[in-house]
Amino acid sequence: MVAAELQGIGMTSRRTRMRLIQRLRESGIRDEQVLGVMGDLPRHIFLDEALAHRAYEDTSLPIGHGQTLSQPYIVAKMTETLMAHQPRKVLELGTGSGYQTAILAQLVAEVYSVERIKPLQDRARERLRQIGIRNVMLRHADGGMGWPEKGPFDGIIVTAAPREVPEELLEQLAEGGVLVAPVGDEAQMLVEITRHGDKFKTREIEPVRFVPLLHGVIR
Ligand code: SAH
Repeated sequence: MVAAELQGIGMTSRRTRMRLIQRLRESGIRDEQVLGVMGDLPRHIFLDEALAHRAYEDTSLPIGHGQTLSQPYIVAKMTETLMAHQPRKVLELGTGSGYQTAILAQLVAEVYSVERIKPLQDRARERLRQIGIRNVMLRHADGGMGWPEKGPFDGIIVTAAPREVPEELLEQLAEGGVLVAPVGDEAQMLVEITRHGDKFKTREIEPVRFVPLLHGVIR
């Protein structure tokens, strides 16, 4: 592609990105830091070329292997919920395209992200490298049990839905830490769970629809 054409896409994506941010505001997203990062980060680079033109619609989009890049509103909502607790060190389960990972990396000091599908992880790693993100550590594994060697975490964000939140994950939360996850089967609920000593307080946020958290790895 010639430079002028590339620049053209860059400009268009900036304008459409601003429209997306406007929509997120109208949907109730208030955290200016989150909106700022999402306004600056191109979403189209996290998609296959054939879908790139739909990157700024407020909708989830396929990323291959039956997985999806979440709807921007949900990404914003989950990030805003997490950031309200000002975490420094965050664990993400389900790297997928790396879009949510890239947003987190610009808001917190350290991000640890686990993905079970190797080809998705490889692509995400390459994209994060391309945009110069360095505070992310990726792991290819079944993340259902978290990443105990790297815990405890101030925040845990799960981008695939478990039927129930695994105990092991809650144990990796630091004191005062927060977990944000879609939970359930057919009917899923986005929840925020905060740790206070050995007590865990759950708050339901809103109904959502995520791909399921699955077991095992794909090479
Ligand atoms: N945050 C991603 C969302 C991807 S969809 C993005 O912004 O693109 C959810 C992802 O969770 C998929 O890539 C899926 O492979 C992954 N996943 C599902 N179960 C998992 C598990 N047990 N461990 C790690 N990753 C898992």
